[in-house]
Amino acid sequence: MLTYLLVITLITCTTVAFLVWFNHPNHACKKINPDFKKTLFIYPHPDDETIFSGGTIALFCLQNKDNVFIVSVTSGQRGDEKLKISESQLKKVRTREFIKAMGVLGAKNYQVWKFMDGETEKDELKIEQKIRQFIEDHNIERLVTYEKYGVYGHPDHICISKICTKVAEDKEAEIWYATLPDKILRLSSLPSEIKYKDKKIQLSPQKVVDPNHYINIFSLALLWRKYKAASKYKSQVLSKRFPLWVTILSNWKEYYYIKTYKKNH
Ligand SMILES: [Zn+2]
Repeated sequence: MLTYLLVITLITCTTVAFLVWFNHPNHACKKINPDFKKTLFIYPHPDDETIFSGGTIALFCLQNKDNVFIVSVTSGQRGDEKLKISESQLKKVRTREFIKAMGVLGAKNYQVWKFMDGETEKDELKIEQKIRQFIEDHNIERLVTYEKYGVYGHPDHICISKICTKVAEDKEAEIWYATLPDKILRLSSLPSEIKYKDKKIQLSPQKVVDPNHYINIFSLALLWRKYKAASKYKSQVLSKRFPLWVTILSNWKEYYYIKTYKKNH
C-alpha cells in the first residue's frame, strides 16, 4: 500500500513538474494584459482559430464580445484527412463545426469566407481587398493570424500571414502573430519538410518566429471552453500524439509575436 502511494505521488509530482516546465516561457516572452481593442482573428481554415487562439477569443469575448471578430478565409473543404466526402459536403460539415465552436467560445461576430482551401495564393489580391474592407467596416484595431511560416508550413497559413502583414504595414496596425516556443514545437514533432502540390517548404523550430508575448489561459473557464470548442471539430484530427483533452488542457498559454508597424514618414 505504501509503495503504491509512493508511486502515485512520484508520478503526480513528475507530471506537475513537467507541465510547469512545459508552460514556462523564456524570459524574453512577456505576459499580455490585454486591452480589448477591436480585434479581428483571421485564420485560413476552421479550427486554426480555436487551436492557436481559442483561449484568447474566449477571454476577449467574456470582456466584450462586440469587439471580437473571427474570420475563417476558407471553409477548409479539402481537409479530408478523416472524412472522405465531397468538397461541397465537407464545406457544410466544417462550416457547421466552426459555428458550433464559435458558440462555445462565446463569439457573436464570425464569418466563413468562400475562398478555396489550398488555393488562397491564387486569390491573394481579392483576399487582401476583402480584409481591407472588413477592417474599415468594423474599425478593426488589431489583427491576429499565423506567423510567417504558418507554424507548420501550410501554404494557406503562409499566404494569409503575408497578406495580413502587408495590410498591417499599410494601416500601421497592431498585429499578433500566433506562434509557439521552440520547446513545444520540438515536442509536437514538426515535419522537417512539407510538400504541397508542387511546393516543398523546409521547416525547423528555429525558422518559426519566437513569441515575445503570451496570454495566460490557465483558468478552468478558458481552458474548458477551448477544449469544448476544439472537440466540435469532429471531422479533423486536431491532436495526433495525445488525446485532444490532454493536448488542450496541458497548454496553459497562447503565444504571439506582437508587432506594431510604423512607416518611416
Ligand atoms: Zn489551417
